[in-house]
Amino acid sequence: MAAVQKFYEVVEERGETRLRRKRKMCPRCGTGVFLAEHKDRFSCGKCGYTEFRKNE
Ligand SMILES: [Zn+2]
Repeated sequence: MAAVQKFYEVVEERGETRLRRKRKMCPRCGTGVFLAEHKDRFSCGKCGYTEFRKNE
């Protein structure tokens, strides 16, 4: 499948199909810098910020 699906998920809302941003953004770098997704954590390649996934 297209690589874009890693970054967006398709949602249907009131008959409209939309793309919603899926990935988390870096709280330090701000909008536009995404956190890389790992199995147990998210990390920012730019500043090194790491956020561990919580077990839900
Ligand atoms: Zn960052």
